[in-house]
Amino acid sequence: MAALDELKAYVREIAEISSAAALAAWDQRTHMPPGGAEARAKVAGKLERLAFERRVSDRMGELLAAAEREGASSEVDEALIRVWKRDHTRHRAIPPSLYQKFVETTTRAESVWEKAKAASDFGLFRPYLAEVVDLVREMARLIGYTDSPYDALVEEYEPGMTTSALRPLLGELRRELVAFLEELARGTPPDKLPRGRFPLDAQRALCRQALGWIGYDFQAGRLDDSVHPFTIGVGPGDVRVTNRYQESDPFSSLFGALHEGGHALYGQGVDPQLGWTGLSGGASFGIHESQSRFWENQIGRSRPFWQFAHPHLAHHFPTLASTDPDDVWRHVNRVRASFIRVEADEVTYNLHICLRFKIELDMIEGKLAVDELPARWNRAMEDYLGITPPDDAHGVLQDVHWSAGMIGYFPSYALGNLYAAQITAVAEREVPGFWDKVQTGDLLPIREWLREKVHRHGQVYLPDELVKRITGSGLSPDPFLRYVRAKYGEVYGL
Ligand code: ZN
Repeated sequence: MAALDELKAYVREIAEISSAAALAAWDQRTHMPPGGAEARAKVAGKLERLAFERRVSDRMGELLAAAEREGASSEVDEALIRVWKRDHTRHRAIPPSLYQKFVETTTRAESVWEKAKAASDFGLFRPYLAEVVDLVREMARLIGYTDSPYDALVEEYEPGMTTSALRPLLGELRRELVAFLEELARGTPPDKLPRGRFPLDAQRALCRQALGWIGYDFQAGRLDDSVHPFTIGVGPGDVRVTNRYQESDPFSSLFGALHEGGHALYGQGVDPQLGWTGLSGGASFGIHESQSRFWENQIGRSRPFWQFAHPHLAHHFPTLASTDPDDVWRHVNRVRASFIRVEADEVTYNLHICLRFKIELDMIEGKLAVDELPARWNRAMEDYLGITPPDDAHGVLQDVHWSAGMIGYFPSYALGNLYAAQITAVAEREVPGFWDKVQTGDLLPIREWLREKVHRHGQVYLPDELVKRITGSGLSPDPFLRYVRAKYGEVYGL
């Protein structure tokens, strides 16, 4: 058998194990009875180990070397070798004993973090976080880097991205957004909509309908309830979403559905020939997030979208029938400095990321001790957003990422917002009558355009290559800044 075919057969096994693991994880977070938890944890751990052993095996190393010698004859084969070699090299750099320690430490740190957050007690979490940071720094050293140990970490989420590129990019974003927030403070804030109770079944029905509008294929997926919304690809032809609902707010679930739906369209739109190759995920976490933000914000929070969607909203929630589309549009575009990242609006959201980026970078570069975190966090909140968290639960303890050892992940959220604005600017030019289509709910041609430009390629291109292919230039904060200035200038009557 040709070397490349042998490699493909081998990675197919890994993809099949991962598919079983994904199904077990989906079930665990949606339908599993509590009594199944312990057995499921064992099975999930076993599946993860089976896949991991293959990813780092000598056999994988030999297959990759042989495939490289043979040479790839297509872009897909080239990407297959690139993606698996990167994965193999990064994971081989970590000795199994260290990896084991990392898994144990983060598992413990995560459960302590939950308690510390509930009690708003950073002191409880501090020693565990210090241990996680030490381990992550050691792993970055073993993986290797040229400029900053942070490079080795961010590479996991954004292949090809570097600290030296992120620093000026997020710096500019911060300066511009802080200045723009001051301008907005002089504008007229939108009125609130009438309060009410919005029955959960009506919310579920509207979310299901919204997934239909954007072209989510229910024959290749499903929508279920969960504590935290998520999207999970079980395998080709099966990409599922979940959502959560609050009776006081029908918009949180609707935007949740559009967000997860955007992730899911990516999974459903990948070229079928990439199935079972390991290339059917997104080009990066940031590119994946651009697809969720596209539908949630660029479309879902646009004025034309509410021209179309308002009658449906009024149908499901008669108490909102007396509002008009622009009332809703303004309501869903209110800007307010707030403590919690996941509840932040589009203008302030990226400032929450800039803050985390600076802090985790300094921690990883050894310039910031874990002891100093709360003070540093609160000072940055004051500088960027002009507010001081009342306690650590609303500050440094709010996110799970650091306890899980996911350091270097946060920038992807901001990149997603920037990529989404860049992609929208091109779609406006290339999809005929783009905003007329949004206004009439004719969204399938837009999904098709995204499928052609983004989704079908899976991981074949690196993020930077993909963005250049779509937009003709690389990552830039300009389209995002133009977009927020134009839209929020209008909402706030500047
Ligand atoms: Zn997302």
